[in-house]
Amino acid sequence: MGGVSWRSLVRSEVQRLAGYVPGEQPRDRGYVKLNTNENPYPPSPRVLEAIRAAANADLRLYPDPSATELRAKAGEVYGFAPDFILAGNGSDELLSIVLRSCAGPGDRVVYPTPTYSLYETLVAIQGAKTVAVPFPSDFRLPVDGLGEQGQVLTIVCNPNAPSGTLAPVSAIEEIARRVRGLLVVDEAYVDFASDSALPLVHRYGNVLVLRTFSKSFSLCGMRIGLAFGHPDLLAELAKVKDSYNIGRLGLVAAAAALDDRAYMEANAARVRATRAVLASGLSNLGFDVLPSETNFVLARRPGEDLAPLQRRLKERGVLVRYFAVPGLRDAVRITVGTPEEVRSLIAALGS
Ligand SMILES: *Cc1c(COP(=O)(O)O)cnc(C)c1O
Repeated sequence: MGGVSWRSLVRSEVQRLAGYVPGEQPRDRGYVKLNTNENPYPPSPRVLEAIRAAANADLRLYPDPSATELRAKAGEVYGFAPDFILAGNGSDELLSIVLRSCAGPGDRVVYPTPTYSLYETLVAIQGAKTVAVPFPSDFRLPVDGLGEQGQVLTIVCNPNAPSGTLAPVSAIEEIARRVRGLLVVDEAYVDFASDSALPLVHRYGNVLVLRTFSKSFSLCGMRIGLAFGHPDLLAELAKVKDSYNIGRLGLVAAAAALDDRAYMEANAARVRATRAVLASGLSNLGFDVLPSETNFVLARRPGEDLAPLQRRLKERGVLVRYFAVPGLRDAVRITVGTPEEVRSLIAALGS
């Protein structure tokens, strides 16, 4: 190609990017798949029925760009007027919209680490600057470190990934009071937890809470998320989203999922029960296990690199997540599967 280097076609911020690395989705054989926090239970039968019913000739038409029915339903369920809600193509898209809307070159974005590594990627794409505030070893939220320091955006994943730990809402509220910029609370795992920051949206104009249908509603494959925030803020964010960001089937699936919350809640209860079994099994095997309020646990052997353990488990047909980053090399993150899957994992660890 006429002497032009492909690299020169791309912004330097993107060239420098390592790129977000999702957990593996192997196709080579069947695995006990405990590496990407998918729900082990299928979506509600009512959701599947709604998707099938919507798979018709209307697919030639664009979907509703403002997700009117879904937002109305979510508003009823969670106690908000629909204009407090923005729907996204998964909460990953909502995060991307927030970063593109709020963070320009050189702007500071503050969050505690280790956490969801996509934040760093999205900040880097903007040419903005990550200010990483380390969690202490017990993963208590470092509220003082997250306070006002000229940042445009503060992100708290709560419960946090990959630690699984939940910060009290009072700590989140303290940050909302202290910072001038936007505070995003990523609540991807909140349905497995005992508390939520959602009520703060009623009281603080600078708080945006993100939810997803991926984890608790078993709909990773559909890509639907919701943001809850002040209507004036959401009106700005809406300018940045793709017009037709959720397909017709996704809109229908999410609305049907909200109509069958009892199904989701029953699965979340099963996951919590299995989580306790998994945690005690891991403790018995000599792992340090942080108290989890999610559908995964972080199992640590302080000072020991667990990469070989992760590889050994894979050979035995069990996938868990290992993060080759400082502070996490002595840990593996294990998704709570079915009781049978957890038994397989514990057996593979013990053998
Ligand atoms: C899974 C996850 C998301 C992404 O959710 P999607 O709706 O599937 O995009 C966002 N944040 C955290 C912390 C997650 O674990």
